[in-house]
Amino acid sequence: MPELPELEVLKENLNQLIVGKRIADLRIIKPYIQKTLLPDDLIGQRVAAVTRRGKYIEIALERHRIVVHLMLSGRFKMRPKEKGPFKSSAAFVEFNNGNTLHLVEEAKLKRMSMWILPKDKGADDIKELGPEPLSDEFTIDRLVKLLSGSRERLKNFLLNQRNVAGIGNAYADEICWQTGLSPFKQAGKLTSEEVARLHGAIRKTLIEAFKETRRLTGNKLEIDESRPFMAVHRRKGEPCPRCGTRVQWVSTTTRDTFYCPRCQPPVTHPLSRPVRSRR
Ligand SMILES: [Zn+2]
Repeated sequence: MPELPELEVLKENLNQLIVGKRIADLRIIKPYIQKTLLPDDLIGQRVAAVTRRGKYIEIALERHRIVVHLMLSGRFKMRPKEKGPFKSSAAFVEFNNGNTLHLVEEAKLKRMSMWILPKDKGADDIKELGPEPLSDEFTIDRLVKLLSGSRERLKNFLLNQRNVAGIGNAYADEICWQTGLSPFKQAGKLTSEEVARLHGAIRKTLIEAFKETRRLTGNKLEIDESRPFMAVHRRKGEPCPRCGTRVQWVSTTTRDTFYCPRCQPPVTHPLSRPVRSRR
């Protein structure tokens, strides 16, 4: 699933392609994607900017805003109008330069979503979102407040979009490793030294991943998600880049968690019950 670093690159690349273009047509091919009615006056509106909020991509028009959540397997693809839609196109937007932006999803479980909202509304009106971790408002003090009283485990805290926006399963693993804390540690019980370390780790992990993704992807809309720079995520059994210990893996019904048992020592006895999360 694309997370903040990949979506940030995608946002920049979309900006290069569609800002200033006018919408010539918008078609829904697969109704599951459509979360709002289509306004009557969409055609002819110019793209003012492409922005990102959490894991949502927002295409700002003159009077409306197209908000897209790619979920697990949604993607953007651009092709000339005359080539028609892809088999997996769920919707497409045709521009006045003859190019068409397709919202495609190839997986069986289709969950990609698109909302068309008035211009002054956006992702924050769809879901309650916490601060952007790379923004100025995401200070250590803010993180202290967010963590205060949390009964979530650290990894679940990072995944909860109401706490911090844009982090998913892959970068949550990497941030925990970078911080040197167990992903299963109770988030509300971090010391002030650990909170400062977590704050630095969130920024460092996301900024470095953005730079690497930028380099690997270039100006394409197909975002490179191979993430060869990752230390522990999907590195089960491989040596931890910091200490050489084999990366461990815990699987639950909803997600896999990867960590280094030496750099991120467990916080509870392995046989004791895990901390219950509020999610
Ligand atoms: Zn290690």
